[in-house]
Amino acid sequence: MTGSQTATRASARPDAVCAAAVDEARAAILDDHVGEHLGVVAEGERLVTHYFACSLPGYKGWRWAVTVARAPRARTVTICETVLLPGEGALLAPSWVPWHERLRPGDLGVGDLLPTPPDDERLAPGYLQSDDPAVEEVNWEIGLGRARVMSRQGRTETAQRWYDSDHGPKAPISVNAPANARCGLCAFYLPLAGALRQAFGVCANLYAPDDGRVVSVDHGCGAHSEVLVETTAPVDELPTVYDDGEVEPVAVDEVSPVDDQRSADEERSADEE
Ligand code: SF4
Repeated sequence: MTGSQTATRASARPDAVCAAAVDEARAAILDDHVGEHLGVVAEGERLVTHYFACSLPGYKGWRWAVTVARAPRARTVTICETVLLPGEGALLAPSWVPWHERLRPGDLGVGDLLPTPPDDERLAPGYLQSDDPAVEEVNWEIGLGRARVMSRQGRTETAQRWYDSDHGPKAPISVNAPANARCGLCAFYLPLAGALRQAFGVCANLYAPDDGRVVSVDHGCGAHSEVLVETTAPVDELPTVYDDGEVEPVAVDEVSPVDDQRSADEERSADEE
């Protein structure tokens, strides 16, 4: 509704006294962002709602609504309520989305609780007699049993998510690693138990970025246990060169072994005397 026109609801005519109480209705709005009077709507007998434009920042298309009423034969009106309502084309918040549909991976914080709904399709009862051997295998492995285990759908979705993640074969660190440096052939690769064993394991290499994470069997990195780096001398080794320009040559007499022994004997007898 635009302008100061008068409208009726369900063919009721607005009460004349209530419809004339524009100033009283305006005064009832305890806010400074009140614009022009947009109109009045009959809500019932001696009961009308006045609409005023709203100039609040961020409330484009919203209207102040003030409902007034009067008692039979009374000439004064009473304010029933004031409220801010969205008009046609009003800027509105997005429609409500349940919290479990808004959650994204990584939203869970320290101390948060994330209950799974009873009909979570990723889970199946632990006692279920399944046609899936993997489920039966899990039931056997757990021994004491759990109320629920992952369903085939849950495991399939999980496997695909892990495979497409930064711990799968298309991760940059994997693509740039040597072709034969795959996790499945690495000593640091600890295969998972159960149905996902064929495709996933945990990296246990302290120096690898994936340490402690689930990696696919065809993921890889440069810290692979069998990666061998060819060791080559960084520069060619040159022959030793002596700078004899700084060396003073000294001539020595050549001494025969007999003369050498004789002089040693003479020295010894001189010492004994
Ligand atoms: S060290 Fe590298 S190749 Fe080995 S398991 Fe970890 S991520 Fe895979």
